[in-house]
Amino acid sequence: MLVTRCVQNLTAYTPGEQPKAKDVVKLNTNENPYPPSPKCAEALTSFDLDRLRRYPDPEFTELRKSIAKMVRAKAENIFIGNGSDEVLALCAKAFVENDEAIGSLDPSYSLYKTLAAIRDVEWRGFGDLGEVEGAAAAKLALFLLTNPNAPTGVLKPRAEVAAFAKRFKGVVVVDEAYADFARENCMALATGEKNRNVIVMRTFSKSFSLAGLRVGYCVGPKALIDALYKVKDSYNVDAIAQATALAAVKDAKWMRGNVKKVVATRKRFVAELKKRGWDVMPSEANFVFARPAHAKAADVFERLRGRHIYVRYFSGPKTADRLRVTIGTDEQMAKLLAALDEFDK
Ligand code: PMP
Repeated sequence: MLVTRCVQNLTAYTPGEQPKAKDVVKLNTNENPYPPSPKCAEALTSFDLDRLRRYPDPEFTELRKSIAKMVRAKAENIFIGNGSDEVLALCAKAFVENDEAIGSLDPSYSLYKTLAAIRDVEWRGFGDLGEVEGAAAAKLALFLLTNPNAPTGVLKPRAEVAAFAKRFKGVVVVDEAYADFARENCMALATGEKNRNVIVMRTFSKSFSLAGLRVGYCVGPKALIDALYKVKDSYNVDAIAQATALAAVKDAKWMRGNVKKVVATRKRFVAELKKRGWDVMPSEANFVFARPAHAKAADVFERLRGRHIYVRYFSGPKTADRLRVTIGTDEQMAKLLAALDEFDK
């Protein structure tokens, strides 16, 4: 066989659909409906083409410094990846022996399971952090904790995450892809002097409206960050991405303005769904996970798709009765609600 057994048996991660048509209402992959900072456009138009002749800075010095300032950490505690998905893959590479396992909540970001399969190590899913103990936890070297969780949107308080990290012997990566939309976050756990095993990971894909750029980063103890540098590709973040992300960080105020709009729309949209009898989980992210009042989630998904309104449906025992709907503009949410009202007629 030319392909390894592990890869032959692999069920690849299925990303959300990226429809080609222009007139779609795209609420399926948690992108930001608002544009990135105009400073990003400036960075792109003034980008010196000669910089593309050379390799990019392998240590992302400038971007690292400005992220460090933003999150109040030292530059030596920051690692940057080609999207946070790359950071996750590198964590699976650097922190897990071949006979160890990777854990996460179930449901949470389904890529985690695939990352374990790619590494050919066991993956274990847990209903809650309290279950991560004894024999079930014995082999776990890495715990990937989405917070706020996806697809539920539910936030775990920092104190609970801190207590978990304290008793967990391996590395805890708190995947804060959606933390800018939440009330609180765990960054203080990653930057604390005594921290030994907590990494907090963020992305430019959601709050910064830069999913197409592919930049994510993480913050953690120097020993763990150094390990990630050892296993990364030399030039994992390209020069254009570094320059554009830098412009975005320097104008973080713009991002916070967009976050405010999304959070306000989320509140209004949740109220509208509840009015229609939907069960909505309390979301602290830029999406909601909700159960239709009268119809099957899978049917609603298909009917919406027929109208070029894309939301996300996850089959599977813990997720199949709900839809995950990204918070878009008020206009997009109104279109979705109008379609739902027509289905109910
Ligand atoms: N973590 C979570 C929980 C996500 O939902 C996503 C986006 N699918 C990512 C990480 C990856 O984001 P990116 O690679 O765009 O930084």
